[in-house]
Order: sequence, then structure tokens, then C-alpha cells
Amino acid sequence: MEPSSPRSDDWKFQRRRERLVEELRRKGITDERVLAAIGKVPRHLFVDPAFLERAYLDEALPIGLNQTISQPFTVAYQTMLLDVRKGDKILEIGAGSGYQAAVLCEMGAEVYSVERLKPLLDRTRRLLKRLGYRVRLHWGDGSLGWPAFAPYDGIVVTAGATEAPRPLLEQLRIPDEAHRGGRLVIPIGGPEGQTMTLIIRKGEDAYERRETDSFRFVPLIAES
Ligand code: SAH
Repeated sequence: MEPSSPRSDDWKFQRRRERLVEELRRKGITDERVLAAIGKVPRHLFVDPAFLERAYLDEALPIGLNQTISQPFTVAYQTMLLDVRKGDKILEIGAGSGYQAAVLCEMGAEVYSVERLKPLLDRTRRLLKRLGYRVRLHWGDGSLGWPAFAPYDGIVVTAGATEAPRPLLEQLRIPDEAHRGGRLVIPIGGPEGQTMTLIIRKGEDAYERRETDSFRFVPLIAES
């Protein structure tokens, strides 16, 4: 058998990506913009090379330092709840591999992401740059948000929290004639599992809260 060239690899992964998109559609992801974005991001470049062949299975995979790249279904689900519109300013907490951030870029969002593990952040910064994804990355405790660029149209937390951190609620956009209120998508619960929660800012001190399905994330680790 001949060794496969990078070009035939691209083709192979492209086919697998299309199949993954179909699988997500079957599992209930109905937002075509989200599916189109998932169909574009080369997830195989975001996973540890040891797991290359598993990159387009609908499962979470290790990315080192005890962290994981989220399951594609979870990424699609959170992105769907965020209801991203082109030009929205989105803050992600937990950059990890950079995959979720890349999906948000493909949807036309202006993306900011915070990560607490420096070595992971450095690696992800290089990868996103190499792939041409323009994401502003910040090393720090994401439970504090990133006040410098607030307010955000959407904030997505990709680690399990015990409650919605106050700074994140405060950094959501307050609705006015020209803008919708900011949306926070955050898994809330304990180590055994979390409930995906959507919190929409309705005014200065008004928030609407909706709980959806159960998930299991690595923990959000607040430094303070
Ligand atoms: N969105 C990522 C998923 C990463 S898993 C992806 O697409 O690959 C969750 C990430 O959250 C881990 O990288 C972990 O280090 C990070 N994390 C946990 N607590 C954090 C905190 N308080 N601030 C910032 N990042 C945090």
C-alpha cells in the first residue's frame, strides 16, 4: 500500500467531518450555521496526534494537562444556545485546544478567550495563528471574565462551574434599541455532572435563566 499524501489525508478528514455533521444533525443540532462551522474546522489538528484517527468521532479527547477537547455535540449545543450572529463579540472561558474558539470564528464572531494553563494557552495561540483564526487570548482566571473588552454579546464557559460567576453576569451586554441582551451559556453543577444553563441579560439588574440538558465537563477552577 502506498503511504497517503497530505492531500489524500485532507480528503479523508473532509469526508469524516461531513459524516460528523450528519451525526450531529441526527442528534438534534438544528442550527445550520453551527453545522456549517463544524463542517469547516479541521478538528484533527486540535487533538493530540495520538488520537488523530478518533478526531471526528463524537467524543471528548485528552489534550494534555488533564484537560479535554469537548465532544463535538457539546460544542455544537453550546454554540447553538449562544445564538451567535455575525459580528457578535463573544468571550469563551477555557480556551483549551482552541477548537470552540475556531468554531466561533467560522460563525463570524469576534472571539476572546481566557485560559488558566499557560502551556496550553501558548500551544493554542500558535495553532490558531497558523490556521488563520484571529482569536484574542488571555492567560488568567476566567471566572473573572475579561473586563477590558466587555460588554459581550455572548459568553460561553467550557468548564463545569458551581454557580454563574458574578463578573461574567456583569460583563454581558445590557439590551438597548440597537442590541440584544448578552447571553451566558454555562454548565452549572458538581463533579458528577452539570446542567447547561442559559442566562440572558434583560436589563441593568434583570436576568432570565433557563436550564436545559445534563453534561459532564472538567471543572472550572477559580484561583480566588
Ligand atoms: N473549549 C475547549 C475545552 C477545554 S476544557 C476546547 O474547545 O478545546 C476546559 C478548559 O478550561 C481547560 O483548558 C481548563 O484549563 C480551562 N479552565 C478551567 N478553569 C479555568 C478558569 N478558571 N479560567 C480559565 N480557564 C479555565
